[in-house]
Amino acid sequence: MTRTVNLGNLKIGGKYPVRIKGMLKSPYSDIGALVKEAKMLEKEGVEALRMAIKEEQDTKLAAVLKKEIKVPLVADIHFHYRFALSAIDNGFDGIRLNPLNISNKKEVAYVACAAKERRIPIRVGINSGGFKKSFNEPRKMAKEMVRVVRDYLRILEKEKFFDIMVSLKGADAQVTIIANRLFAKEFDYPLHLGITATGSFLNGIVKSSIGLGGLLSQGIGSIIRVSLTAPSYWEIRVAKYILAALDLRKQGPEIISCPTCSRCEVDLIKIVDRFNETLQKSQLKKSLRVAIMGCVVNGPGEARAADIGAAFGKKKAVIFKKGKIIKQTDEKNIITDLFKEVAKL
Ligand code: SF4
Repeated sequence: MTRTVNLGNLKIGGKYPVRIKGMLKSPYSDIGALVKEAKMLEKEGVEALRMAIKEEQDTKLAAVLKKEIKVPLVADIHFHYRFALSAIDNGFDGIRLNPLNISNKKEVAYVACAAKERRIPIRVGINSGGFKKSFNEPRKMAKEMVRVVRDYLRILEKEKFFDIMVSLKGADAQVTIIANRLFAKEFDYPLHLGITATGSFLNGIVKSSIGLGGLLSQGIGSIIRVSLTAPSYWEIRVAKYILAALDLRKQGPEIISCPTCSRCEVDLIKIVDRFNETLQKSQLKKSLRVAIMGCVVNGPGEARAADIGAAFGKKKAVIFKKGKIIKQTDEKNIITDLFKEVAKL
């Protein structure tokens, strides 16, 4: 088991569930949009939010956001250790340092002292893309990432600073998996998992699911950040799906649906999307399985394991519980009727 680290009120690592982190993507010149995004992500279920600090004045945004949201805020610092000191002074709950661009021992020690005084954790976050040298083998790259982090941890530990989290992110699943496994064998600091530069939307989801899912299934990882070239709420949704798929966090009802075949006479893709939106808006927290199946012939039987479900005929639908039909309805009423039955459970 890893150590537990406090990020604001959020406990990370140890016996605590795997947490979900998000990133604010709005331009800082538009405070309204930034606050709106932060509130929206909080509603989606994010448990910690990161902000990239490009200029010292960005660190003042912590005060603005903290009036609007409850989740802890992390300042992502590169190149300038003074930005880290400023972020600590201005109320951020945690900071991330990149060992590849803030590496002067004295500077790192200053930051550690300031963080210690305020009881703020530091994430040592290394990305494979930050190396100038290229590595022809994933294992070599992963080992080098761990080596750099190990040396950096020594600087922090020398200052008697142990409120540490670590991330070792590769641009692909393989490097990420190897690096985090190597690290977890040697250290008990909580790991923040993520994959950088994941690529197009679908590719990003697949890489994150394999990379993060592979590690989480081995018990490695205390907090995850899914990075997608997509609006920030998708990152939270995908993170929640990854955790739910591994039974690590239950976040309300789970939809299972069939892939459809020639027996299906409705637009099942649209129906599943609409029902999913209804569930998201309702914020139901019950942990149950709802099946949405393309035909009445096989649907109820195929989805026997679901707590409740719907299956379709031509313009008609049935609702079933544990494989047994309990109600008939029309295709146009199915979203409302199925939701009513789900809410009763
Ligand atoms: Fe085809 Fe019906 Fe099975 Fe869906 S439930 S895949 S429509 S047989």
